[in-house]
Amino acid sequence: MLINSFAVAGEEVNLYSARKEALIKPIVDKFSEQTGIKVNLITGKADALLQRIKSEGRNTHADVFITTDAGRLYRAKQAGVLQPTQSDILNQVIPANFRDPEGYWYGLSMRARPIFYVKDRVKPEELSTYEALAEPKFNKRICIRSSNNIYNQSLVASMIAANGVEKTQQWANAFVKNLAIKPKGGDRDQIRAAAAGQCDIAIANTYYYGKMINSKKADQKKAAQAVAIFWPNQQDRGTHVNVSGAGVTRYAQHPENARKLLEFLASKEAQRWYADINYEYPVRTDVEPSALLKSWGSFKADSINLDQLGVNNAEAVKIMDRAGWK
Ligand code: FE
Repeated sequence: MLINSFAVAGEEVNLYSARKEALIKPIVDKFSEQTGIKVNLITGKADALLQRIKSEGRNTHADVFITTDAGRLYRAKQAGVLQPTQSDILNQVIPANFRDPEGYWYGLSMRARPIFYVKDRVKPEELSTYEALAEPKFNKRICIRSSNNIYNQSLVASMIAANGVEKTQQWANAFVKNLAIKPKGGDRDQIRAAAAGQCDIAIANTYYYGKMINSKKADQKKAAQAVAIFWPNQQDRGTHVNVSGAGVTRYAQHPENARKLLEFLASKEAQRWYADINYEYPVRTDVEPSALLKSWGSFKADSINLDQLGVNNAEAVKIMDRAGWK
């Protein structure tokens, strides 16, 4: 049977995306080309979109919600705006730790949050784990963004899972004393501050480093070239990783098309493009990272189920507050 776009005329799916249009539009266009299903794309900030789906309630136009960080995906699940999707394809190709155990959301791209060190001032042998960054030898040498950022909350949540609340509190108390400057700006600003001599060590997501290395702005590129990646916790649980991902909304009017869109985004072709466009890792183990990411070396990733980052989020925020992490 010949299937063309005419045969499925009128089919559509509505996508609310916290990822910028440039990071999602080309690949959903491909989906439309292949399936004849039109994608209506609305982009915005993660929290605003989540709020919008919530307040639209049963009348929401959203079928699929895409956002970054498992902590946020968990928040969407807890807010009651998602529904579980059962899909043999998704369960087969997306590793279990990168999806919600009940199918409420699925990771679609992966990023790590390693340590970056200034090559002139730090030897990699001095580094080992996130835990060790609380040692006195790193006094006033570390740059990291503020604690209201979900990436840091998820990192601390992963430490709670590994070490428990009490030990993580002790770690945070000491770690905060090692910050060189009051947290401000985004991840790229931490790498820039390190390169500029304000600190020796920065913590940042891998894709920001990739963007800086390939940046047309000379200062960004130069800053990235001054640092190198250190993959922490290779002798134990592995480096902290996180995902961007998506779930089908609770009141989706096109749940079948929504599932098809998720399955498409998990396909080998889409994984290749979706990872590369933002310097991320594919979640599929049978799709290789880009040459640039490969050049950073392979590493052991923390294999914790990422829903635990959401489960531990509130406790993580409390720990950071008590430690005085601005
Ligand atoms: Fe980011």
